[in-house]
Amino acid sequence: MAVCSPSELKDALDVLNAPDCVLISGGTDYFPALKRGGSERTLLNLMKVREMRGISLERSGVRFGAALTWSEIIRADLPPAFDALKSAGKEVGSIQIQNAATLAGNLCNASPAADGVPALLALDAQVELQSAARGARQIPLTEFLKGVRKTDRRPDEILTSIFVPQPPEGMRSIFSKLGSRTYLVISICMTALNVVLDKGGRVRELRVAVGACSPVAQRLSLLEAEAIGQNLREIKVRDDHISPLKPIDDVRASAEYRLEAAKEQIQRALHELSR
Ligand SMILES: Cc1cc2nc3c(=O)[nH]c(=O)nc-3n(C[C@H](O)[C@H](O)[C@H](O)COP(=O)(O)OP(=O)(O)OC[C@H]3O[C@@H](n4cnc5c(N)ncnc54)[C@H](O)[C@@H]3O)c2cc1C
Repeated sequence: MAVCSPSELKDALDVLNAPDCVLISGGTDYFPALKRGGSERTLLNLMKVREMRGISLERSGVRFGAALTWSEIIRADLPPAFDALKSAGKEVGSIQIQNAATLAGNLCNASPAADGVPALLALDAQVELQSAARGARQIPLTEFLKGVRKTDRRPDEILTSIFVPQPPEGMRSIFSKLGSRTYLVISICMTALNVVLDKGGRVRELRVAVGACSPVAQRLSLLEAEAIGQNLREIKVRDDHISPLKPIDDVRASAEYRLEAAKEQIQRALHELSR
């Protein structure tokens, strides 16, 4: 197995054109899933690519380099709108995993249970992809994630950054994860909520995203729309609010349990945000 670790994006894009080239960042999804016979591949390690490191605060929003690790995100000085993203990072595996694993890997692996996705959906995140032939394109995360292990990434593209448009003034956020134990667990269901309240404590904007309850994590638009003008404690989460969710039965939980858990998680998060 050959490993190539370029420090410039241009070089990384050139290497990507090699036959049998496989992209890796932290490798924490890639290596555990590796089957025998993968050794003839060229691994393109993106962790040293200069343009994909660091967080930049731009006038229109915050740009996260795709090769940032979860530990770097957790330690970053970011406004409260990003608290849910940081909390999600603290739930990704163990500290050892968080030190190696990246945001981009979490998105590109496209697991329904990827803990980073709901928080980024609630931040209206976009992803930037670059190819040597066509340059850069930026698309909403909702369009990038296509299904279980399916993304809109073309074979010659690298996900280079994640962009979050400037969150509204005063936006706060919260993340909750339910698993069958506290640490090192795949989510049964997780939710991220971002809220802005007016001076009277009524909802000006609410964003609710739920993961592990459908092939791709979902925003709940009916609940978001109905919440406007309400006091957070008045909001009662109903079955029709969570109807976009399409959970499966699996070894971790039944679909019915997941729906009940999602409803309860959102209700508790609304209560927590009202304090
Ligand atoms: C013990 C253990 C516990 C875990 N616990 C959790 C958990 O609790 N929650 C959770 O969400 N995940 C968990 N994971 C999964 C994994 O750690 C995360 O999804 C992590 O964020 C993946 O990042 P990575 O950089 O390691 O990805 P990699 O393994 O490097 O890559 C994953 C996929 O993305 C592609 N890719 C990577 N970077 C790019 C890029 N820049 N552009 C295009 N494609 C790219 C790769 O080709 C590969 O297909 C766990 C993994 C392990 C081993």
